[in-house]
Amino acid sequence: MSTDKKAIRAAVAARVEQARDDLVRITQELVRIPSVNPPGDYARMAEAMFENYRAEGLEPMVVEAPREEIEALGLTVPRPNVVARVRGKGSGPVFCLDAHMDVVGTGNESAWSHPPFGGELHEGRIYGRGAEDTKAHLAVQLIVYRALREAGVELQGDLLLTSTVDDEIGQWPGMGYLIERGFKENGFPRPDYHIAGEPTGIDTVGCLARGRLWYEYVLKGRPAHGGNPAEGINAVDRAIDLANAVRRFEIHEDPLMGATTVNLGILQGGEAVNVVPERCRITFDIRPARKKEVVKAFMDRTVQELQARDPDFVVESMRLLNDRQTGGIGPDHPFVKTVQDVVGELTGKSVVPTGNMAGYSSLGNAYWTSMNGVAGIMYGGGDFSRAHTVDEYVTADELVETAQVFAGLVIELCA
Ligand SMILES: [Zn+2]
Repeated sequence: MSTDKKAIRAAVAARVEQARDDLVRITQELVRIPSVNPPGDYARMAEAMFENYRAEGLEPMVVEAPREEIEALGLTVPRPNVVARVRGKGSGPVFCLDAHMDVVGTGNESAWSHPPFGGELHEGRIYGRGAEDTKAHLAVQLIVYRALREAGVELQGDLLLTSTVDDEIGQWPGMGYLIERGFKENGFPRPDYHIAGEPTGIDTVGCLARGRLWYEYVLKGRPAHGGNPAEGINAVDRAIDLANAVRRFEIHEDPLMGATTVNLGILQGGEAVNVVPERCRITFDIRPARKKEVVKAFMDRTVQELQARDPDFVVESMRLLNDRQTGGIGPDHPFVKTVQDVVGELTGKSVVPTGNMAGYSSLGNAYWTSMNGVAGIMYGGGDFSRAHTVDEYVTADELVETAQVFAGLVIELCA
């Protein structure tokens, strides 16, 4: 890292500090707009971010996946992403600072000490659903850009600021659509680097995640009187055979992602106590710490073996309801090193790469980018254990530190 850039980063960090009150105020305002997903109520949030980008002098654009493709996923429209582009002067790398606009539900609201959509500020903490996950990171984008602009930092590569849909339901119309087609179809450059702004904590960077395969089988039997089961074929028995076979899947342990997990989520079949069940539905949520192809080969082989052993083992249908690959850019990618260097310089903290955030493995929107050849990480201020919980909050200090670090990374990569 050059000493020139170090001085620029210090100057920009001071500007961010000056914007502390605005950073807090914008975060509060965004928390006060409920955007719970499902169902994914985006109209007011997208409008607010559109206006926020404009207020900083940018010309944002609403970029939405085609209606029929959204509806084919069983989702409602509109699902608008908002994209703002800061054009660089040269041909440096393109950097995308991203955060999702949706939040999870509040659960039992009476359990909250502060109203979940109140955006209240107490002793330096902003409370509310989505405060740290991840409206903080939408507000941070704005102040990063403002501080860079006010400090007169010249960017070579473009900076893209994105407010995206559907991270909380892991669906495609947000960053999935943008990276596969949406950026290109709307005249935006393809990012080289991407940060999915999420509350990992500034000393932890998400760079790997286990895969996610959701299998649903419907097994077909033949009904008969419960007093004479030999006359029928019991579909629930076949589902139990399948469950026992799947239990033998070898559990692989990865140093960063943790162990493969297998969860039997639904076992549903039968009509009456005295009838041999004709159908049984069974689902498995498998999160492998190895490539998903290992799971697919195992599941195919398991079903074939059951069929070979038992002619009455009949799969009426099989659906893969989620089909996420295992991976990410990994801890040795130069982008991870860049984050470690910049954070070290600005805060003195050391950053640990992980693939297993708060015991559960996810890359957020960086899943879509890292699977498409972009250096994508999940990263930002806060504390993952506070996300999705009662009395979620983000502190003003976390907001400032995150904006300083993100601005520092933009300077390192694009200036
Ligand atoms: Zn999130």
